Amino acid sequence: MNCPACSKQLVEYKAGSLMIDICRDGCAGIWFDKDELEAVDEGKEPFPEDLLQVLRNAKVVVDHSKDRHCPKCSNQLLVEQYYDSSGQVAIDTCMTCGGHWLDTGELKSVRQDNTASAERDQAIEQYMSRNKERIKSIDAAHRVKSIFKLLF
Ligand SMILES: [Zn+2]
Ligand SMILES: [Zn+2]
Repeated sequence: MNCPACSKQLVEYKAGSLMIDICRDGCAGIWFDKDELEAVDEGKEPFPEDLLQVLRNAKVVVDHSKDRHCPKCSNQLLVEQYYDSSGQVAIDTCMTCGGHWLDTGELKSVRQDNTASAERDQAIEQYMSRNKERIKSIDAAHRVKSIFKLLF
């Protein structure tokens, strides 16, 4: 497969149980087949930290205005799609095979967004558990009131 951004031959890279295609010594972009990015993003696969430091060739210039074609499906254009829930990270996606192309740095954004939502979840959880305590005490207050009603 060739790089959709700079046409260099992609090389396979093993990350956990996934085989990811990277543009090593080229533009340093990364190709994720369908469900691979999702598996990483949802934590089903360990985050491939090495992929944040794919060797980039300084001589390779990426023309972002040029159309990009899916490296798997010939003649299929990649379209920019908001990948994450907060709609902040737009990445090239093939609507035919469901693969994603990440320019250098975009994987970092996906991960940062993940960290942000993990922090959000944690905050919600903390709030919930604080609330639970309150609900418990309201319940307790009701029970105490009912007992008093029975007695008097
Ligand atoms: Zn490339
Ligand atoms: Zn495709």
